[in-house]
Amino acid sequence: MKVYIDGQLRDEADATISVFDHGLLYGDGVFEGIRMYHNRIFKLREHIERLYWSAKAILLEIPMTPEQMMEACLETCRANGLREGYIRLIVTRGKGTLGLDPRRCPKPSVIIIAATIQLYPESVYQDGMTIATVPTTRMLVNSVNPAIKSLNYLNNILARIEANLIGVEEAIMLNTEGYVAECTGDNIFIIQKGKLYTPPLSAGALYGITRNTVIDCAKHMGIEVGEPNLTRYDLYTADEMFLTGTAAEMVPVVKVDGRVIGQGKPGPITGKLLAAFRGVTRHDGELIFKE
Ligand code: PMP
Repeated sequence: MKVYIDGQLRDEADATISVFDHGLLYGDGVFEGIRMYHNRIFKLREHIERLYWSAKAILLEIPMTPEQMMEACLETCRANGLREGYIRLIVTRGKGTLGLDPRRCPKPSVIIIAATIQLYPESVYQDGMTIATVPTTRMLVNSVNPAIKSLNYLNNILARIEANLIGVEEAIMLNTEGYVAECTGDNIFIIQKGKLYTPPLSAGALYGITRNTVIDCAKHMGIEVGEPNLTRYDLYTADEMFLTGTAAEMVPVVKVDGRVIGQGKPGPITGKLLAAFRGVTRHDGELIFKE
């Protein structure tokens, strides 16, 4: 495998960064997870835009233009002969001193890994997932805003550990007011009386690119979409539920905190949205290899 680091494509064994990198020492940096489908990098422009927004929010100056970053992602896929798969794009604060002042880190590092991924077994997509709310709350928007896709994922990891401990596959994170924010690596949607709802970003959700794609699909299909604050009650009484994320794609949910959702199997509107989503993945994105 060839890994892109700071302008070079290196063999995996040589793809190393300094132990003094503040990405490692403090989780100081930003990242993206991006999919390749059918010889295209899906929603590449949107992911790069979000990366630069995340970087701007933490005053991290990425040492290349968005266009160069897009090209670097394409190059990394080509170097690995990948037409399908998953890209992990990371920008760290770079090498610094043993102190957290980012002014001591003169040069951010850019890392691009292109590989394959399967987050969940196929059965989860067929039969639906069981999830639960957990005690760890989502970080406040005025601490580390969850809209920033930063390398500091401990908030999510703690919630994920709590999900593991109770034997479910994902955790629903509430914010400090008790409203639903999102899951540890996915946005959450419900369908109630034919309408689609997902929490607003202000509730502590990431500006999910799959979330946006599914909202667009729903609007195209004439489904009304709302972004109100949602409570656990709204989840328990939903007709259908699903999660969205680049790695997870669209995952139906059939049980939350012991409450069966709808008929206890993936719902019909979820199925239609999934088909529409798959349609978009077929033609949207930047071409990797010339056809
Ligand atoms: N929320 C969190 C916390 C995430 O890490 C992610 C990405 N894995 C998402 C939501 C989904 O975002 P996207 O659809 O852009 O991958």
